[in-house]
Amino acid sequence: MGIVGAGQLGRMLALAGYSLGVRCLFLDRSAQSPGAQVASTLIGDLEDAALLAELAARSDVVTFDWENISGSVLQPLESVTKVRPPRAALEVSQDRLAEKKLFTKLKIPVAAHAAVDNFKELVSAARKIGLPGVLKTRRLGYDGKGQFVLREISHIEEAWQAIGGTGLIYEKFQAFSREVSLVSVRSAAGHVVFYPLSANTHSEGILRYSVAPFTNVSLERTAQRYLKLIMNELKYIGVLTVEFFVVDGKLVANEMAPRVHNSGHWTIEGCITSQFENHLRAICDLPLGSTRPLGHAAMINFLGKMPDRERLLAIEGLAFHDYGKEPRPGRKLGHCTILKARPRERNQVLADALKLIKWA
Ligand code: AMP
Repeated sequence: MGIVGAGQLGRMLALAGYSLGVRCLFLDRSAQSPGAQVASTLIGDLEDAALLAELAARSDVVTFDWENISGSVLQPLESVTKVRPPRAALEVSQDRLAEKKLFTKLKIPVAAHAAVDNFKELVSAARKIGLPGVLKTRRLGYDGKGQFVLREISHIEEAWQAIGGTGLIYEKFQAFSREVSLVSVRSAAGHVVFYPLSANTHSEGILRYSVAPFTNVSLERTAQRYLKLIMNELKYIGVLTVEFFVVDGKLVANEMAPRVHNSGHWTIEGCITSQFENHLRAICDLPLGSTRPLGHAAMINFLGKMPDRERLLAIEGLAFHDYGKEPRPGRKLGHCTILKARPRERNQVLADALKLIKWA
């Protein structure tokens, strides 16, 4: 199997591949990347046509751990091998406006928004949609990068100075009570399974920790219906994640990721089959595995600096993941998962573990 991009997501896919007997080959810029440390890697640019062709020729199926690769460079691979998830899903997820168009077409609620390509359009979007609002780049934004929260009209020029240009979107700020995400898997034959909902805590646009299963039958049912609509529309194959805001008890879709997701890392220890294994099963035409949770889980990201491994490992029921990356401010370096029989115990241990983790 070929994987474009050898970050931590690719690494965890390759590790899941070991037990299934699915061998992975990466394409990545760096021989030291998290994935390259665990599987063979072609070294070079992710959009290098010759290397992509080699990856495709050596793989029964090609997938990606980085969703910003351009669809046009993947297209030629489709005549050589299977590219999964489908390119259409990748392309929609690369543009926040296209994503919102798709959600709206499927009657999935989204925040009020407007495309912004110049300062005048920002002024009129802020007037029409109101404040506070979030100005975002439509493409290549992740982990809160390329975003400006506009709270007062007097800061509008500052917002423009910060990220102004073409290809922006202005969204109404959502006064959410929670953020949740749903990870789902669809096989080529259209069989769909869902993981339990995760409740996610972000700060400065970066996921800090997730708690799952987040039990809310009605929200979960609605989220499942929305994901099914998206997956069927895109003839999706593999893992798809959608992040939602919960506003006044209802779901508002924020964005989708055509891949395994940070808020699903807890499934490695927390479910019978992890999101990584199920992505491989789906794209390799193997039967999908059970998504049944094995307890009450919490996942905490290690950002910028690795925590004290010994002290964390002393916590009963904690699993530790180091992605093998060089520390850098805000960089996702690893995570830990706590699994407990009851929510109260999980919450207690989560609070203890959070005291040992400093985000840098
Ligand atoms: P995103 O890159 O769109 O996932 O944004 C990262 C995080 O910023 C989200 O998880 C939210 O915590 C916050 N955020 C993004 N858009 C909005 C919005 N329209 N209203 C409120 N918070 C937002």
